Amino acid sequence: MTTANTSASQTNVPMVDLKAQFDSIADEVNDAVQQCVASCQYIQGPQVATFERAFASFCGVQQCVGVASGTDALHLACRAVGVGPGDEVIIPANTFVATAAGVCMAGGIPVLVDVDPNTSLIDVAQIESAITPGTKAIIAVHLYGQCANMDAVNTIAKQHGLSVIEDAAQAHGAQYRGRPAGSLGDIAAFSFYPGKNLGAYGDGGAITTNDARLAERVRMLGNYGAPRKYHHVEFGFNSRLDSLQAAVLSVKLNHLNAWNESRRRIADRYAEAWAFRSDVAITPCVDGNTHVYHLYVVRCADRDERLANLNATGVGAGLHYPAPIHLLPAYSWLDQPRGKFPNAESFAATCLSLPIYAEMTDEQIEHVIASL
Ligand SMILES: *Cc1c(COP(=O)(O)O)cnc(C)c1O
Repeated sequence: MTTANTSASQTNVPMVDLKAQFDSIADEVNDAVQQCVASCQYIQGPQVATFERAFASFCGVQQCVGVASGTDALHLACRAVGVGPGDEVIIPANTFVATAAGVCMAGGIPVLVDVDPNTSLIDVAQIESAITPGTKAIIAVHLYGQCANMDAVNTIAKQHGLSVIEDAAQAHGAQYRGRPAGSLGDIAAFSFYPGKNLGAYGDGGAITTNDARLAERVRMLGNYGAPRKYHHVEFGFNSRLDSLQAAVLSVKLNHLNAWNESRRRIADRYAEAWAFRSDVAITPCVDGNTHVYHLYVVRCADRDERLANLNATGVGAGLHYPAPIHLLPAYSWLDQPRGKFPNAESFAATCLSLPIYAEMTDEQIEHVIASL
């Protein structure tokens, strides 16, 4: 992220500030890391089981299995629900590329559905027309930190005998009608990439579910396909959450609700600033959702100019995402023409993500507002 530094007195606002967050919890984290390092149980140490229990409870489910990344969580969740070679999996057209990659890693084919023009969440009215006899699952992405319309997704899935996977990589702590992300489908995938609302100090991920069978399958697939040591019953992978990352995550999980609350307070201030502007459209929080604002995304017709302006005034802004899945070179084989998913394409052309993180000062918040 580029943040031009034009004058010494200027307020700089990075897109995320992991240093400020670390400083606020340094003692706790250092203790946990030191204990873990001294214990020498770097793989599958007690820190992993402790974090898995705490995160399952946080998500209101029975099961959590740590894996090596959010992408792996999606991949292994797809395999666990039975996605295999040639199976179709419905995903929204506007999402991070990993949603599509997880499907492909399981041998499946991503089938895109356009998004709602206001929220950029999957447009549930368009899901049924994408279902074929080859469809196996739907991945609902809780994009930017708010949950997709899960009642509708689950109803459609039930009618057609499909599995529901939540991509909750941006939604740690989000709620849908009072129920937590991670408990809203058959199985959910989380990422602990450092910049996520709950981030490790390296790569990490997890699945959550109430289905002990699915949890055991993910655990086995991520452990060389072996339910017991050297008992390899199935082709498997090496995908585990490191003990060190689990130790860090357990410390940070205790702060997550407060951090998400701070993100909401900043979002409220932003919304107030732009509520009556025709040139800046905010992404609304849907009724019944508790948003955790992993990203604060506005839309502007003159997006590129504004992005340049923000960067010139020391504000780190970003684009989520500059291209929908079907227009990425890596997914040209899906053979979906430009114009096929107009809402996702319009989001890509106009979206602008502004800095939002718990440690932002009032001065930084007001600087972002003044700069835009
Ligand atoms: C970050 C992210 C992922 C991938 O997570 P990694 O840990 O980086 O592999 C998947 N889906 C979405 C929506 C994400 O934002």
